[in-house]
Amino acid sequence: MLWQKTLARSLSFTGIGLHRGIPVTVTIYPASANQGLRFVRADLPGRPQIQAHFTRVVDTTRATTLGEGGATLATVEHLLAALRGLGVDNALIQVEGPELPIMDGSAAPFAKLLAEAGLRSLPWPRAYFLIRHPVEVRQGNQFMRVTPGEPSITYTIDFSHPLIRRQRYTVPLKSQSFYSEIAPARTFGFLKEVQHLKTQGLALGGSLDNAVVLDDNGVLNPEGLRFPEECVRHKILDVMGDLALLGLPLLGRLEVSRGSHALHHSFFLRLMSQENAWRIWVPSQRTQEKPHSSFQSPLWEAAAG
Ligand SMILES: [Zn+2]
Repeated sequence: MLWQKTLARSLSFTGIGLHRGIPVTVTIYPASANQGLRFVRADLPGRPQIQAHFTRVVDTTRATTLGEGGATLATVEHLLAALRGLGVDNALIQVEGPELPIMDGSAAPFAKLLAEAGLRSLPWPRAYFLIRHPVEVRQGNQFMRVTPGEPSITYTIDFSHPLIRRQRYTVPLKSQSFYSEIAPARTFGFLKEVQHLKTQGLALGGSLDNAVVLDDNGVLNPEGLRFPEECVRHKILDVMGDLALLGLPLLGRLEVSRGSHALHHSFFLRLMSQENAWRIWVPSQRTQEKPHSSFQSPLWEAAAG
């Protein structure tokens, strides 16, 4: 049996939000089994809770924003990617503001804090979305699809910028791969867009300290890129954060081309509507059940355990 996990202890951090540019404090508490990942807007009267679930998505412009009962919370995807990427099933995330801190634009600071806090197992088995048949969403030249197989994400982006052009990256869904290959990849933006956002009162906290900024020829950040294909790695980070909104880890081979938070959300709605394409699966050591004949690595490792 593979048990659900939560944090071994609570942890806290403060950072500025990308859009408002003001400091936000976040405290993450351990939670009991089957609670899932749940946010609390601790700065609002009544401390409203917002479940990290795709049915709570209220906006997908530039970031994923959740809302429940009138309360909203923006830019949840990088922290959710770190929680899911490191195998945290249950946590209560108290946020004292309307958006998550952007930190350095990646999930590395979150992943480091979570790794320091450590995880503990809960006395309840973890369930998975086991993919049995392909599901695809296609919008113009964008697509997102999942097929049965060993859990992995392949992402392709294509920008006319000389430093990006066509980038494709594949990562297995394992916590070690997430920590070293995906979590450090920073969000990126184009100088013209950043200037436009600031004139609209957005991205007020945005700087070279929390994003890779590209002008027409190259990178403005003096330290350069962390990986040659940092941009596509960050897209994998974003989709992993959005995947956490399914509520259960996905066991399947995911492929995304030119994706966006909006495309990810459309895909989840399609996936949920095609109920014969997946089933909820609880691995059992007793029966030695194998989810799919093409699995090569042990499921325990493959599923970010
Ligand atoms: Zn992002």
